[in-house]
Amino acid sequence: MKNPMHVPSMKRLALLLLGLAIMLGSARPAKGQGGGEVTEARAEHRFGEEVQFFARIQSAGAIQSVSVTIRPAGGLAQTQAMSVNADGTAGYRFDALTNPLPAFARVVYWFDVTLADGTRFASAQQEFIYSDNRFDWLGLNSQNVRVHWHEGDAAFGAAALDAAQSGIESVQSLVPIEPVAPMDIYIYARGADLQSAIDLGGKSWMAGHASPEHGVAMILVSPDRAYELDRHVPHELAHLLLYQSLGPRYYNLPVWLREGLATNAEIYPNSDLEATLTDAVNANALFPLADLCTSFPRESVSALQAYAQAKSFVRFLIDRFGTTGLSALISAYADGMNCEQGANRALEQPLSQLEISWRDSALGENRSGVAAANLLPYFIVIGLAMVIPLWGWAARIVARRKLAKRN
Ligand SMILES: [Zn+2]
Repeated sequence: MKNPMHVPSMKRLALLLLGLAIMLGSARPAKGQGGGEVTEARAEHRFGEEVQFFARIQSAGAIQSVSVTIRPAGGLAQTQAMSVNADGTAGYRFDALTNPLPAFARVVYWFDVTLADGTRFASAQQEFIYSDNRFDWLGLNSQNVRVHWHEGDAAFGAAALDAAQSGIESVQSLVPIEPVAPMDIYIYARGADLQSAIDLGGKSWMAGHASPEHGVAMILVSPDRAYELDRHVPHELAHLLLYQSLGPRYYNLPVWLREGLATNAEIYPNSDLEATLTDAVNANALFPLADLCTSFPRESVSALQAYAQAKSFVRFLIDRFGTTGLSALISAYADGMNCEQGANRALEQPLSQLEISWRDSALGENRSGVAAANLLPYFIVIGLAMVIPLWGWAARIVARRKLAKRN
């Protein structure tokens, strides 16, 4: 029995496929065009070691050369010549030890073939995730977050997913942003494993931090310290969410703002931060905020102090200007305004002025009190300058009264 409804829907499907073919065709030479096609294409990797690219080419004429082009998401493309075998297969071994690819990056690749008669054609684009496959990852998904862990039981994974859900809410209590794409969190159980993943994945990773353009974060939480999930998961989600909402403009934000937001999103905060901040205030050793705009110190004690300051300052901004003020500040910086002027545009005060208010009110430094003490000699001079004419004026009054009494 023929269903008449099928006709238009088939037609629509055909049109859709045609449209898709035109789109793909305009982006890349069509598969099979001009006497050949790539019938098999794959990439297999061993993290930190190599990626093996393989292609099978079917063509009427002899193959002159085959190349593979590799492009990690957000990175530069590179094209490599492949060795071609008599059976029409081609291979290339990419050395991932000397040319590290970012861990868990999405890598796009395709093959270009040139035949002896000069005919050229290319495969469709393929992709793979350059995962750290030294470990067998377990996974658990919610709508927006996928958590992965390689040590610990299902309850540990469930706790990680819980931390992610509350983490998103925690970020949203600071800045109203909605997740628009899935985010991946990889939880390493040992510092050495995470460190080697960072080292083998090239320098695009900061220790334990998100690589937001890949939508991925790697963190260190061993299953016997599961409570730390509530710190690290929300922190990294803050970075990923902020990147989702700003795109590459995310990198225009001062580091103190990015890290201050992420640190405020932590549900189980690091108790060392408060003590570090108090020590820095007492020692009169706070870093000027202007020094924390483009980078944080690398040395661990100074880095901890930088996080502590960033957290306290961002909290101060939220308390004083609300999430609306904070959002305006994020927009100003994302638009490329510098550290001082972004604050001026969004909050009508330059950063240096806000910094003084913060140190006054949040850290109890009372810098205006300090300033007043420094001005004391001037007040004395001004006071004397006012007292001397007053004296003369009072003396005249007294003299006038005496005169009046006599009269
Ligand atoms: Zn961070």
